Amino acid sequence: MNTTIYQPEWETMSQDALALLQLARLKKTLSHAISNCQFHRERFQEAQIQPGDLTSLDDLKRLPSMGKEDIRQAYPTALLCESPTLLREMHMSSGSTGSPIAMLYTQGDLDQWAVCMARCYSMAGGRPSDPVQITPSFGLFNGGFGMYHGARALGLLVIPTGAGNTARQIKLARDFGTKILTGVVSYGIRIMEELQALGGTLPQLTYGIFGAEAFSENMKNQLEKGLNIEAFNIYGMTETGGVGTLGQDCPDHSGIHVWEDHYLVEVCDRESGERLPDGKEGELYVTSLTRSAMPVIRFRTGDLTRVLSRQRCACGRTHIRIAPIIGRVDDMLIVKGINFFPTQVEQALMEIPGVKPNYQIIIEERQGVKDVRINVEAESTVTGFTVAKHLKERLGFSPKGDVFTPGSLPRQEGKATRVFYKILD
Ligand code: ADP
Ligand code: ZN
Repeated sequence: MNTTIYQPEWETMSQDALALLQLARLKKTLSHAISNCQFHRERFQEAQIQPGDLTSLDDLKRLPSMGKEDIRQAYPTALLCESPTLLREMHMSSGSTGSPIAMLYTQGDLDQWAVCMARCYSMAGGRPSDPVQITPSFGLFNGGFGMYHGARALGLLVIPTGAGNTARQIKLARDFGTKILTGVVSYGIRIMEELQALGGTLPQLTYGIFGAEAFSENMKNQLEKGLNIEAFNIYGMTETGGVGTLGQDCPDHSGIHVWEDHYLVEVCDRESGERLPDGKEGELYVTSLTRSAMPVIRFRTGDLTRVLSRQRCACGRTHIRIAPIIGRVDDMLIVKGINFFPTQVEQALMEIPGVKPNYQIIIEERQGVKDVRINVEAESTVTGFTVAKHLKERLGFSPKGDVFTPGSLPRQEGKATRVFYKILD
């Protein structure tokens, strides 16, 4: 297996040692948050619990949780736990589900981010001096800078193209022998399509690191085939410090390894908040263990996953593996009594030979009754009937919809919007 472990002493430590480390770091984080931030202090007072009361990691469930709303309301600095003189960078979320949130970093937080990201590159197969093309924008969105900090830590050759100008991206990848391509999943698709349209290949390109949005296994397979790469699923969010902070899958592709020496994760029931047994699907809660400017404590991410394994992986790492995120809690669609996630539609669509990776799910509402229309790009051999029949088999309902010629559905910069709502009268 072509994986070099960036920090073997941390990434392969025994689960017992990891648990002890997590408990010590958890107590330190809690004391730090309570001493320096009124928000955290009040929450702990309300819950009548002190860091010293924790005797095991199981006690975590007694701590109050926090949600995106708390972070939004705290904008810009009410969750700050460090002196403003120690701050060195700030970023914001893309605002997919509401007004964006802001994250501030000390030098220590930036170093922690760089280490997590360097582990991800290394896990994918990146080696010092490998050219990495960073396609997320370099700005408020955390993607570009996070990938930059990690690439510098590992010693990669940074090609900081940022977003857009796809033809130039391909030219630069060819001219400078890009070996690792990074970006938002839908931009990976855009590059693949452009490459196919232009003809030719990117012979040096070996690995793709994609994230920022939920994507199906079949979409990943399309990217691997179309770009002739091995693709990795990288996970992180602004609230935890940005791209790569939570982790990525390894070459065993048996789930996303979460960097457990830096983050404690729990999967909880969406409604009751009760912790779920391993294997059960629920909402991921994250507690940061090593961040100082804006730590999060039992942060309800809104992302749905399940614990796949806590055993040592074939790659040698001991850190927990969770399933690829299937979507956010509020991504679930209910049409005619059937519940489904956009990634399930995507997974089913990508199974149909000739279907291309661009589609729209349109929820049409007429006098309170919802119906779903699925438009997809495909080769001329694919008919609307084929699509509807396959979706009926896989999802249990037959949506309306049209088949479009490749390239004709609109595309967006950044994270793709797949679901649209239309009120019809
Ligand atoms: P937002 O999109 O919520 O405004 P961010 O830009 O910080 O905020 O993006 C973080 C969110 O993006 C995560 O909570 C998750 O929903 C999604 N995300 C990030 N990486 C992945 C991934 N690899 N798979 C699925 N979803 C992801
Ligand atoms: Zn592994």
